[in-house]
Amino acid sequence: MAQLTLDEVTKVFDAGGGEEVVAVDGVNIEIADGEFLVLVGPSGCGKSTTLRMIAGLETVTSGEIRLGDRLINDVSPADRDIAMVFQSYALYPHMTVRENMSFGLEESTDMADEDIADTVGASAATMGIGDLLDRKPSDLSGGQRQRVALGRAIVRDPEVFLMDEPLSNLDAKLRSEMRTELQRLQDELDTTTVYVTHDQTEAMTMGDRVAILNDGRLQQVGTPLECYHQPANRFVAGFIGEPSMNFFEVERQGTRLVADRFSYPLSESLRAELGDRTDLTLGIRPEDIELGAETDGKDVFETVVDVVEPMGNENNVYLAFDERADEPETFVATVGGMSRIEAGQPVTARFPEAAIHLFDRTTGEAVHNRDLADPDTIEPRL
Ligand code: ADP
Ligand code: MG
Repeated sequence: MAQLTLDEVTKVFDAGGGEEVVAVDGVNIEIADGEFLVLVGPSGCGKSTTLRMIAGLETVTSGEIRLGDRLINDVSPADRDIAMVFQSYALYPHMTVRENMSFGLEESTDMADEDIADTVGASAATMGIGDLLDRKPSDLSGGQRQRVALGRAIVRDPEVFLMDEPLSNLDAKLRSEMRTELQRLQDELDTTTVYVTHDQTEAMTMGDRVAILNDGRLQQVGTPLECYHQPANRFVAGFIGEPSMNFFEVERQGTRLVADRFSYPLSESLRAELGDRTDLTLGIRPEDIELGAETDGKDVFETVVDVVEPMGNENNVYLAFDERADEPETFVATVGGMSRIEAGQPVTARFPEAAIHLFDRTTGEAVHNRDLADPDTIEPRL
Protein backbone atom coordinates (compact mmCIF):
# COMPACT_ATOMS: atom_id res chain seq x y z
CA MET A 1 0.00 0.00 0.00
CA ALA A 2 1.72 3.16 -1.14
CA GLN A 3 -0.68 6.02 -0.93
CA LEU A 4 1.37 9.18 -0.57
CA THR A 5 -0.09 12.06 1.42
CA LEU A 6 1.17 15.63 1.67
CA ASP A 7 -0.56 17.41 4.53
CA GLU A 8 0.02 21.19 4.80
CA VAL A 9 3.60 20.65 3.64
CA THR A 10 5.66 23.83 3.88
CA LYS A 11 9.30 24.63 3.17
CA VAL A 12 10.92 27.86 4.26
CA PHE A 13 14.53 28.43 3.17
CA ASP A 14 16.85 30.75 4.99
CA ALA A 15 18.09 32.95 2.16
CA GLY A 16 20.72 34.66 4.34
CA GLY A 17 20.69 38.14 5.91
CA GLY A 18 17.54 37.31 7.84
CA GLU A 19 15.63 36.82 4.57
CA GLU A 20 13.29 33.87 4.22
CA VAL A 21 11.99 32.21 1.06
CA VAL A 22 8.71 30.31 1.33
CA ALA A 23 9.36 27.79 -1.44
CA VAL A 24 6.39 25.52 -0.68
CA ASP A 25 3.38 26.88 1.15
CA GLY A 26 0.86 24.57 2.85
CA VAL A 27 0.50 22.02 0.06
CA ASN A 28 -2.16 19.30 0.45
CA ILE A 29 -2.23 16.41 -2.02
CA GLU A 30 -3.30 12.79 -1.71
CA ILE A 31 -1.73 10.56 -4.32
CA ALA A 32 -3.50 7.21 -4.58
CA ASP A 33 -1.71 3.87 -4.71
CA GLY A 34 -0.57 3.32 -8.30
CA GLU A 35 -1.54 6.82 -9.43
CA PHE A 36 0.52 8.89 -11.88
CA LEU A 37 0.41 12.47 -10.61
CA VAL A 38 2.04 15.26 -12.61
CA LEU A 39 3.19 18.25 -10.57
CA VAL A 40 3.40 21.20 -12.94
CA GLY A 41 4.11 24.91 -12.69
CA PRO A 42 6.47 27.64 -13.86
CA SER A 43 10.15 27.67 -13.00
CA GLY A 44 10.79 28.50 -9.34
CA CYS A 45 7.28 27.59 -8.14
CA GLY A 46 8.54 24.92 -5.71
CA LYS A 47 8.24 21.67 -7.70
CA SER A 48 11.74 20.33 -7.06
CA THR A 49 11.61 21.36 -3.42
CA THR A 50 8.34 19.44 -2.99
CA LEU A 51 9.83 16.36 -4.63
CA ARG A 52 13.05 16.60 -2.63
CA MET A 53 11.04 16.74 0.62
CA ILE A 54 9.18 13.58 -0.43
CA ALA A 55 12.52 11.91 -1.21
CA GLY A 56 14.00 13.05 2.11
CA LEU A 57 16.71 15.17 0.46
CA GLU A 58 15.26 18.31 2.04
CA THR A 59 13.79 18.72 5.53
CA VAL A 60 10.13 19.68 5.95
CA THR A 61 9.64 23.00 7.76
CA SER A 62 6.08 22.13 8.77
CA GLY A 63 3.34 19.73 7.78
CA GLU A 64 3.38 15.97 7.30
CA ILE A 65 4.42 13.56 4.56
CA ARG A 66 2.94 10.07 4.92
CA LEU A 67 3.50 6.90 2.95
CA GLY A 68 0.48 4.73 3.67
CA ASP A 69 -0.07 5.32 7.41
CA ARG A 70 3.56 5.91 8.12
CA LEU A 71 4.81 9.43 8.85
CA ILE A 72 8.08 9.75 6.93
CA ASN A 73 9.14 13.35 7.69
CA ASP A 74 12.16 12.16 9.65
CA VAL A 75 12.86 8.85 7.91
CA SER A 76 16.23 8.82 6.14
CA PRO A 77 16.08 8.80 2.30
CA ALA A 78 17.50 5.27 2.12
CA ASP A 79 14.70 3.92 4.35
CA ARG A 80 11.79 5.52 2.46
CA ASP A 81 11.52 2.97 -0.35
CA ILE A 82 11.33 5.80 -2.86
CA ALA A 83 13.38 6.06 -6.07
CA MET A 84 14.10 9.39 -7.70
CA VAL A 85 15.05 10.11 -11.32
CA PHE A 86 16.72 13.44 -12.01
CA GLN A 87 16.91 15.62 -15.10
CA SER A 88 20.70 15.29 -14.99
CA TYR A 89 20.47 11.44 -14.87
CA ALA A 90 23.13 11.42 -12.10
CA LEU A 91 24.83 8.23 -13.32
CA TYR A 92 28.24 7.24 -11.93
CA PRO A 93 30.62 7.94 -14.84
CA HIS A 94 33.25 5.38 -13.86
CA MET A 95 30.73 2.53 -13.61
CA THR A 96 29.22 0.47 -16.44
CA VAL A 97 25.48 0.49 -17.00
CA ARG A 98 25.29 -2.86 -15.19
CA GLU A 99 27.22 -1.49 -12.21
CA ASN A 100 25.13 1.67 -12.15
CA MET A 101 21.97 -0.40 -12.02
CA SER A 102 23.29 -2.96 -9.49
CA PHE A 103 24.85 -0.48 -7.10
CA GLY A 104 21.72 0.46 -5.16
CA LEU A 105 20.72 -3.18 -4.66
CA GLU A 106 24.19 -4.14 -3.48
CA GLU A 107 24.27 -1.25 -1.03
CA SER A 108 20.79 -1.34 0.43
CA THR A 109 19.61 -4.97 0.22
CA ASP A 110 21.00 -8.36 1.14
CA MET A 111 20.04 -9.86 -2.22
CA ALA A 112 22.33 -12.59 -3.56
CA ASP A 113 24.57 -11.65 -6.51
CA GLU A 114 22.68 -13.90 -8.96
CA ASP A 115 19.36 -12.38 -7.94
CA ILE A 116 20.75 -8.91 -8.45
CA ALA A 117 22.04 -9.92 -11.89
CA ASP A 118 18.60 -11.34 -12.79
CA THR A 119 16.75 -8.26 -11.58
CA VAL A 120 19.09 -5.91 -13.43
CA GLY A 121 18.77 -8.03 -16.57
CA ALA A 122 14.97 -7.94 -16.40
CA SER A 123 14.82 -4.16 -15.82
CA ALA A 124 17.34 -3.53 -18.59
CA ALA A 125 15.15 -5.61 -20.94
CA THR A 126 12.07 -3.60 -19.90
CA MET A 127 13.92 -0.37 -20.75
CA GLY A 128 15.37 -1.80 -24.00
CA ILE A 129 18.97 -1.36 -22.86
CA GLY A 130 19.89 -5.05 -22.46
CA ASP A 131 22.70 -4.73 -25.01
CA LEU A 132 24.24 -1.68 -23.31
CA LEU A 133 25.01 -3.24 -19.93
CA ASP A 134 28.77 -3.24 -20.35
CA ARG A 135 29.08 0.32 -21.62
CA LYS A 136 30.04 3.37 -19.59
CA PRO A 137 27.65 6.38 -19.53
CA SER A 138 30.10 8.39 -21.69
CA ASP A 139 29.49 5.88 -24.51
CA LEU A 140 25.72 6.41 -24.48
CA SER A 141 23.42 8.93 -26.16
CA GLY A 142 21.28 11.23 -24.02
CA GLY A 143 18.22 9.07 -24.61
CA GLN A 144 20.10 5.91 -23.60
CA ARG A 145 21.41 7.57 -20.44
CA GLN A 146 17.86 8.54 -19.56
CA ARG A 147 16.81 4.91 -19.98
CA VAL A 148 19.61 3.78 -17.70
CA ALA A 149 18.56 6.32 -15.07
CA LEU A 150 14.99 4.99 -15.28
CA GLY A 151 16.21 1.38 -15.26
CA ARG A 152 18.21 2.08 -12.12
CA ALA A 153 15.03 3.34 -10.43
CA ILE A 154 12.90 0.40 -11.62
CA VAL A 155 15.43 -2.16 -10.40
CA ARG A 156 14.76 -1.17 -6.83
CA ASP A 157 11.04 -1.91 -7.17
CA PRO A 158 10.22 1.05 -4.92
CA GLU A 159 6.87 2.02 -3.43
CA VAL A 160 7.08 5.42 -5.13
CA PHE A 161 8.84 6.89 -8.18
CA LEU A 162 9.76 10.55 -8.12
CA MET A 163 10.81 12.11 -11.42
CA ASP A 164 12.12 15.65 -11.75
CA GLU A 165 11.85 16.89 -15.34
CA PRO A 166 13.38 13.60 -16.57
CA LEU A 167 12.81 14.33 -20.26
CA SER A 168 13.88 17.95 -20.52
CA ASN A 169 17.39 17.18 -21.81
CA LEU A 170 16.07 15.17 -24.76
CA ASP A 171 15.26 16.52 -28.21
CA ALA A 172 11.61 17.05 -29.09
CA LYS A 173 11.03 13.80 -31.00
CA LEU A 174 12.71 11.59 -28.40
CA ARG A 175 10.87 13.47 -25.67
CA SER A 176 7.50 12.66 -27.14
CA GLU A 177 8.50 8.99 -27.63
CA MET A 178 9.70 8.72 -24.03
CA ARG A 179 6.51 10.40 -22.85
CA THR A 180 4.47 7.56 -24.31
CA GLU A 181 6.91 4.94 -23.11
CA LEU A 182 6.94 6.26 -19.55
CA GLN A 183 3.16 6.18 -19.43
CA ARG A 184 3.13 2.59 -20.64
CA LEU A 185 5.82 1.64 -18.15
CA GLN A 186 4.02 3.28 -15.24
CA ASP A 187 0.82 1.54 -16.26
CA GLU A 188 2.62 -1.80 -16.31
CA LEU A 189 4.52 -1.37 -13.03
CA ASP A 190 1.57 0.31 -11.33
CA THR A 191 3.94 2.18 -9.01
CA THR A 192 2.75 5.42 -7.40
CA THR A 193 4.53 8.16 -9.33
CA VAL A 194 5.03 11.90 -8.89
CA TYR A 195 6.33 13.45 -12.09
CA VAL A 196 7.54 17.04 -12.07
CA THR A 197 7.56 19.21 -15.19
CA HIS A 198 7.20 22.84 -16.25
CA ASP A 199 5.75 21.66 -19.57
CA GLN A 200 1.98 21.87 -19.78
CA THR A 201 1.94 19.39 -22.69
CA GLU A 202 3.51 16.72 -20.48
CA ALA A 203 1.02 17.60 -17.77
CA MET A 204 -1.95 17.29 -20.12
CA THR A 205 -0.86 14.05 -21.75
CA MET A 206 0.86 11.95 -19.09
CA GLY A 207 -0.89 12.05 -15.76
CA ASP A 208 -3.98 10.50 -14.24
CA ARG A 209 -4.23 13.79 -12.42
CA VAL A 210 -2.38 17.08 -12.53
CA ALA A 211 -1.41 19.24 -9.55
CA ILE A 212 -0.70 22.84 -10.55
CA LEU A 213 1.63 24.86 -8.38
CA ASN A 214 2.34 28.60 -8.50
CA ASP A 215 4.50 30.54 -6.12
CA GLY A 216 4.67 27.61 -3.69
CA ARG A 217 0.89 27.30 -3.49
CA LEU A 218 -1.27 24.56 -4.89
CA GLN A 219 -3.75 26.01 -7.40
CA GLN A 220 -5.76 22.96 -8.41
CA VAL A 221 -5.60 19.17 -8.45
CA GLY A 222 -7.70 17.37 -11.02
CA THR A 223 -7.72 15.33 -14.20
CA PRO A 224 -6.10 17.10 -17.15
CA LEU A 225 -9.47 17.77 -18.76
CA GLU A 226 -10.98 19.12 -15.52
CA CYS A 227 -8.11 21.58 -15.23
CA TYR A 228 -8.50 22.51 -18.88
CA HIS A 229 -12.26 23.01 -18.96
CA GLN A 230 -12.98 23.84 -15.32
CA PRO A 231 -9.97 25.84 -14.13
CA ALA A 232 -10.17 26.90 -10.49
CA ASN A 233 -8.69 30.28 -11.27
CA ARG A 234 -7.18 32.50 -13.88
CA PHE A 235 -3.66 31.21 -13.30
CA VAL A 236 -4.64 27.63 -14.12
CA ALA A 237 -6.74 28.81 -17.08
CA GLY A 238 -3.74 30.62 -18.54
CA PHE A 239 -1.13 27.99 -17.71
CA ILE A 240 -2.89 24.95 -19.16
CA GLY A 241 -3.49 25.09 -22.91
CA GLU A 242 -1.36 26.15 -25.85
CA PRO A 243 -1.83 28.79 -27.21
CA SER A 244 -3.11 30.19 -23.90
CA MET A 245 -6.63 31.23 -23.14
CA ASN A 246 -7.37 34.86 -24.13
CA PHE A 247 -8.25 37.26 -21.32
CA PHE A 248 -10.10 40.57 -21.43
CA GLU A 249 -10.78 42.88 -18.54
CA VAL A 250 -14.50 43.52 -18.41
CA GLU A 251 -16.86 45.46 -16.20
CA ARG A 252 -20.42 44.45 -15.62
CA GLN A 253 -22.85 47.23 -16.55
CA GLY A 254 -26.46 46.14 -16.21
CA THR A 255 -27.08 43.24 -18.56
CA ARG A 256 -23.73 43.54 -20.30
CA LEU A 257 -20.03 43.05 -19.81
CA VAL A 258 -18.18 46.06 -21.13
CA ALA A 259 -14.57 45.76 -22.31
CA ASP A 260 -12.36 48.43 -23.84
CA ARG A 261 -13.15 47.41 -27.38
CA PHE A 262 -16.35 45.42 -27.20
CA SER A 263 -19.45 44.91 -25.16
CA TYR A 264 -20.81 41.50 -24.38
CA PRO A 265 -24.47 40.68 -23.70
CA LEU A 266 -25.24 38.21 -20.91
CA SER A 267 -28.02 35.67 -20.71
CA GLU A 268 -30.31 35.85 -17.71
CA SER A 269 -28.89 32.65 -16.22
CA LEU A 270 -25.31 33.86 -16.44
CA ARG A 271 -26.31 37.19 -14.88
CA ALA A 272 -27.85 35.29 -11.99
CA GLU A 273 -24.62 33.33 -11.55
CA LEU A 274 -22.56 36.51 -11.34
CA GLY A 275 -24.62 38.01 -8.51
CA ASP A 276 -23.45 41.56 -7.84
CA ARG A 277 -19.86 41.13 -9.03
CA THR A 278 -18.76 43.91 -11.36
CA ASP A 279 -14.99 43.66 -11.93
CA LEU A 280 -14.30 40.55 -13.96
CA THR A 281 -11.96 39.01 -16.48
CA LEU A 282 -13.47 37.25 -19.46
CA GLY A 283 -11.56 34.23 -20.77
CA ILE A 284 -12.03 32.33 -24.00
CA ARG A 285 -9.87 29.59 -25.53
CA PRO A 286 -8.47 30.12 -29.03
CA GLU A 287 -10.30 27.10 -30.44
CA ASP A 288 -13.66 28.38 -29.17
CA ILE A 289 -13.57 31.65 -31.08
CA GLU A 290 -15.54 31.28 -34.32
CA LEU A 291 -14.14 33.26 -37.21
CA GLY A 292 -16.16 34.52 -40.15
CA ALA A 293 -19.59 34.10 -38.60
CA GLU A 294 -21.98 35.69 -41.10
CA THR A 295 -24.31 37.25 -38.61
CA ASP A 296 -24.54 40.51 -36.83
CA GLY A 297 -25.17 38.63 -33.58
CA LYS A 298 -24.59 40.28 -30.23
CA ASP A 299 -21.53 38.13 -29.61
CA VAL A 300 -19.92 38.75 -33.03
CA PHE A 301 -17.25 41.44 -33.28
CA GLU A 302 -15.40 43.09 -36.16
CA THR A 303 -11.67 42.41 -36.05
CA VAL A 304 -8.64 42.54 -38.32
CA VAL A 305 -6.08 39.77 -38.78
CA ASP A 306 -2.72 40.94 -37.44
CA VAL A 307 -0.54 37.85 -37.92
CA VAL A 308 -1.18 34.29 -39.08
CA GLU A 309 1.03 31.54 -37.65
CA PRO A 310 0.64 28.42 -39.78
CA MET A 311 1.19 25.25 -37.72
CA GLY A 312 0.36 22.83 -40.54
CA ASN A 313 -2.58 21.08 -38.94
CA GLU A 314 -3.99 24.41 -37.82
CA ASN A 315 -3.37 28.15 -37.97
CA ASN A 316 -2.97 30.43 -34.99
CA VAL A 317 -4.65 33.65 -36.06
CA TYR A 318 -3.77 36.78 -34.06
CA LEU A 319 -6.57 39.32 -34.24
CA ALA A 320 -6.88 42.96 -33.27
CA PHE A 321 -9.99 45.02 -32.62
CA ASP A 322 -8.19 48.11 -33.87
CA GLU A 323 -5.92 47.88 -36.90
CA ARG A 324 -4.78 51.47 -36.60
CA ALA A 325 -3.00 51.13 -33.29
CA ASP A 326 0.80 51.03 -33.62
CA GLU A 327 1.12 47.91 -31.55
CA PRO A 328 -2.38 46.56 -31.47
CA GLU A 329 -3.38 44.37 -28.56
CA THR A 330 -4.08 41.02 -30.07
CA PHE A 331 -5.89 37.87 -29.10
CA VAL A 332 -5.58 34.50 -30.74
CA ALA A 333 -7.98 32.12 -32.44
CA THR A 334 -7.10 28.73 -33.89
CA VAL A 335 -8.62 27.57 -37.15
CA GLY A 336 -8.07 24.54 -39.41
CA GLY A 337 -4.78 24.42 -41.30
CA MET A 338 -6.44 24.53 -44.70
CA SER A 339 -8.35 27.76 -44.00
CA ARG A 340 -7.33 30.66 -46.21
CA ILE A 341 -6.74 33.66 -44.06
CA GLU A 342 -4.25 36.49 -44.36
CA ALA A 343 -2.81 39.36 -42.38
CA GLY A 344 -4.72 42.60 -42.90
CA GLN A 345 -7.97 40.84 -43.70
CA PRO A 346 -11.08 41.96 -41.81
CA VAL A 347 -12.88 39.09 -40.14
CA THR A 348 -15.67 38.64 -37.63
CA ALA A 349 -14.94 36.83 -34.35
CA ARG A 350 -17.72 35.22 -32.36
CA PHE A 351 -17.40 34.45 -28.65
CA PRO A 352 -20.13 31.87 -27.96
CA GLU A 353 -21.47 32.35 -24.45
CA ALA A 354 -21.31 28.57 -23.83
CA ALA A 355 -17.51 28.78 -24.16
CA ILE A 356 -16.65 31.82 -22.04
CA HIS A 357 -15.07 31.77 -18.59
CA LEU A 358 -15.35 34.59 -16.06
CA PHE A 359 -12.87 35.26 -13.27
CA ASP A 360 -12.97 37.63 -10.33
CA ARG A 361 -10.52 40.31 -11.40
CA THR A 362 -9.11 40.83 -7.90
CA THR A 363 -8.74 37.27 -6.61
CA GLY A 364 -8.53 35.47 -9.96
CA GLU A 365 -11.03 32.86 -8.74
CA ALA A 366 -13.22 31.32 -11.43
CA VAL A 367 -16.75 32.72 -11.08
CA HIS A 368 -18.14 30.91 -14.12
CA ASN A 369 -16.61 28.16 -16.23
CA ARG A 370 -17.61 27.17 -19.71
CA ASP A 371 -20.77 25.22 -20.21
CA LEU A 372 -20.08 21.51 -20.49
CA ALA A 373 -23.70 20.39 -20.46
CA ASP A 374 -23.56 19.81 -24.20
CA PRO A 375 -20.88 17.24 -24.97
CA ASP A 376 -20.72 18.59 -28.52
CA THR A 377 -18.94 21.59 -27.10
CA ILE A 378 -16.04 19.40 -25.89
CA GLU A 379 -15.49 16.84 -28.60
CA PRO A 380 -17.21 15.40 -31.61
CA ARG A 381 -19.45 12.43 -30.81
CA LEU A 382 -18.40 9.10 -32.21
P1 ADP B 1 11.12 24.62 -9.33
O1 ADP B 1 11.66 23.23 -9.22
O2 ADP B 1 9.62 24.68 -9.40
O3 ADP B 1 11.73 25.39 -10.45
P2 ADP B 1 12.40 25.02 -6.74
O4 ADP B 1 11.66 24.08 -5.87
O5 ADP B 1 13.75 24.61 -7.21
O6 ADP B 1 11.48 25.42 -7.99
O7 ADP B 1 12.56 26.42 -5.98
C1 ADP B 1 11.48 27.07 -5.34
C2 ADP B 1 11.96 28.35 -4.70
O8 ADP B 1 12.82 28.06 -3.63
C3 ADP B 1 12.76 29.26 -5.63
O9 ADP B 1 12.43 30.57 -5.32
C4 ADP B 1 14.18 28.95 -5.27
O10 ADP B 1 15.01 30.04 -5.54
C5 ADP B 1 14.08 28.67 -3.80
N1 ADP B 1 15.12 27.72 -3.32
C6 ADP B 1 15.29 26.44 -3.75
N2 ADP B 1 16.31 25.84 -3.08
C7 ADP B 1 16.79 26.79 -2.23
C8 ADP B 1 17.85 26.79 -1.24
N3 ADP B 1 18.59 25.70 -1.03
N4 ADP B 1 18.04 27.94 -0.55
C9 ADP B 1 17.28 29.03 -0.75
N5 ADP B 1 16.27 29.08 -1.65
C10 ADP B 1 16.02 27.99 -2.37
MG1 MG C 1 13.04 22.23 -10.47
